[in-house]
Amino acid sequence: MVEAQGLSKVYRLGRVEVVALRRASLVVDAGESVAIMGPSGSGKSTLLFLLGLLLRPTAGTYRLQGCEVGGLPPGERARLRARHIGFVFQTFNLIPGLSALRNVELPALYNGMPRRRRRERARELLERVGLGERLRHRPAELSGGEAQRVAIARALMNAPLLVLADEPTGNLDSATGRRIMDLLAGLCAEGRALVVVTHNAEVAERWAHRVLRLRDGVLEGGGDGDR
Ligand code: ADP
Ligand code: MG
Repeated sequence: MVEAQGLSKVYRLGRVEVVALRRASLVVDAGESVAIMGPSGSGKSTLLFLLGLLLRPTAGTYRLQGCEVGGLPPGERARLRARHIGFVFQTFNLIPGLSALRNVELPALYNGMPRRRRRERARELLERVGLGERLRHRPAELSGGEAQRVAIARALMNAPLLVLADEPTGNLDSATGRRIMDLLAGLCAEGRALVVVTHNAEVAERWAHRVLRLRDGVLEGGGDGDR
């Protein structure tokens, strides 16, 4: 599903260059769950943004379902992202003015799902993450853990083939975190692929098929040969 070869990302801030990722290679199959661990600043979010088509690599190739997508124009990338990728942001990125239900519905709005089905599916997903009683709450009226679960429900709205989650249990108590990881890992049984960034060794070891480590922008063990 995911074949990344030699992905690099250099951020430029005026004259300063930050090399966030150095020639990272990574293969993730359908039905596979991969955890990425590494210290703060090691490039985890950058790698996830590249895989999520939210950033363009400075170098390297990225094939998604066999198609080269690294160099596509923004519109094409946005279309692919909406259709195939669910992204759970570390900072949630919920829309402040919209209720939990409307936030979760949003991805399907761009995909043209009829209103009634959209609403039903959003409600069902919020129930699955344990927020059936919070449908009308706005992000500011939710706890961090609740907002995180809304973000997870939203990422699943379009039944994406690839789910990318940046610290999805970072704000959850351990029981809720386990429930959410069961839910995410369950996606793999449906043939979806999951890449989770986590600081939590239990999350990595219990729910991921493989654990990869990032250190100073260098990804260890991402390629085929290391499996
Ligand atoms: P992690 O998620 O592992 O904490 P990041 O991918 O967020 O790491 O960041 C990797 C490195 O890139 C860090 O040194 C960070 O300061 C830098 N960085 C991240 N985003 C940007 C940006 N938009 N502009 C400049 N530097 C950035
Ligand atoms: Mg990060």
